[in-house]
Amino acid sequence: MGTTSGDPESASSDSDSGPDIDTSVFEYRDLEEIHKEIQETYLADDRPWVIGYSGGKDSTTTLQLIWYAISELSKEQLDKPIYVISSDTLVETPKIVNHITSTLDKINEYAEKEDLPFEAHKVYPDVSDSFFVNLIGRGYPAPNQTFRWCTDRLKIDPADNFILDKVSEHGEVIVTLGARKAESATREQVMNLHSIEGSNLSRHSKFANAFVFTPIEDWIVDDVWDYLLQVECPWGKDNRDLAALYQEADDECPMVIDTSTPSCGNSRFGCWTCTVVEEDKAMENMIDAGDDWMEPLLEFRDLLKRTQDPEKKPKFREMKGRRFGDIREKTNGGEGIIPRTYKLEFRKHLLRKLLETEREVNERKDPDEEYLDLIRDAELKEIRRLWREEEADWEDSVPRIYNDVMGEHLDWIQDDLGSFSAEEAEILEEVASKHDVPPKLVKRLLDVELRHHGMKRRASIYNKIDGVFKEDWRTTAEVVEDFDGEDADDWEYDIKYEELI
Ligand code: SF4
Repeated sequence: MGTTSGDPESASSDSDSGPDIDTSVFEYRDLEEIHKEIQETYLADDRPWVIGYSGGKDSTTTLQLIWYAISELSKEQLDKPIYVISSDTLVETPKIVNHITSTLDKINEYAEKEDLPFEAHKVYPDVSDSFFVNLIGRGYPAPNQTFRWCTDRLKIDPADNFILDKVSEHGEVIVTLGARKAESATREQVMNLHSIEGSNLSRHSKFANAFVFTPIEDWIVDDVWDYLLQVECPWGKDNRDLAALYQEADDECPMVIDTSTPSCGNSRFGCWTCTVVEEDKAMENMIDAGDDWMEPLLEFRDLLKRTQDPEKKPKFREMKGRRFGDIREKTNGGEGIIPRTYKLEFRKHLLRKLLETEREVNERKDPDEEYLDLIRDAELKEIRRLWREEEADWEDSVPRIYNDVMGEHLDWIQDDLGSFSAEEAEILEEVASKHDVPPKLVKRLLDVELRHHGMKRRASIYNKIDGVFKEDWRTTAEVVEDFDGEDADDWEYDIKYEELI
């Protein structure tokens, strides 16, 4: 690592255009100068810092640099907090989550020991925003490049909430990130766009009361590794373990705090369920390196990936939209019906598969290690509520599936929605089909009535009933008849998903 002070002019033939993207930062700055810049920024005001930590090389470098720079200040100068936040999507690759959790614990332990103002926190998505509540509860199809519904809900919103919370407490905050211009041309463009002339801070892309500090913005990737492998980690971890993790995982998922941050979809260190990439190289490499207990995770992820096959989509997906029950035709050159959310039958299959995966992974894992929850109880309860309320799931499938696979009962609230049961569903199916009425239509109407039963003001019931009637209740065959090139069999869900995928 060239840590000798260099001449900035020598880094580029044109000093106005800034350092060349391939030039090491250490050719024109040394660590002392970088520490000084961090110290001056910290001491310049009383705005607290929020450091985004993803567990990857760039955010580790940033945090480590700041740690050393801040440690050189006197205790009297350390009068404002530095929060370190890390998003746990609840579907993080297990090895990465262990690495992040142990790092955050160490940061808190060493900060206390050395009397430094660091405070590490994990931030989580709301239960209602979690990956499985959306995928299985609401039926959102596995994310892809064009419908990547997960990043906001799992990563950006939890970090934003933390930042906003600190803004309301302190007035303004400085968000510190390990972003580097050399990551990509787009990254560089976005960073330049938000920069503030004459300041080493830039504007936050969303919040007027937040500013961004990027101490390694001019570092190239070799600088990052040279630094990490030559400068000891100050909170008692070994950066060589991080390097080893990279060898297994290929690349990292950055701490995503806004939409300008590159998605983890292209660089893997992210969720084990991610279907934005074709293959999960990171998990494949970990399995090849001996972690074969992760195989069931990869199989579940690959199952999700296969549902994106355009030929098979109609088998898994509803014709009707979830909110308005409408049917939409493809535009933009395509022909036929736009597939919407996953069918309830397929979601039941996914839930069963997920629980089987959880059971299998835990059977294969080292028994001394902590039990790995792939889905939490609160998520299961939320999925149950959504199915009961939105899908007229009178069979109350979630507790049934859970009990089938796990062989135990969760602490379910009995009859929380005062709904009907599986026996009544069976009778209704029979009666409705005799009269040629869609059974789900009757179930939904009865559910609306039940939910308004006993209410003093029942005005909203008419809108609700109206909404149910406005949905498209034609049969699959009737709908596809109106669309050239559609085959009703393609949309039939009376199939064995096990055989199909
Ligand atoms: S890693 Fe994949 S699944 Fe996770 S938030 Fe990023 S894009 Fe979504």
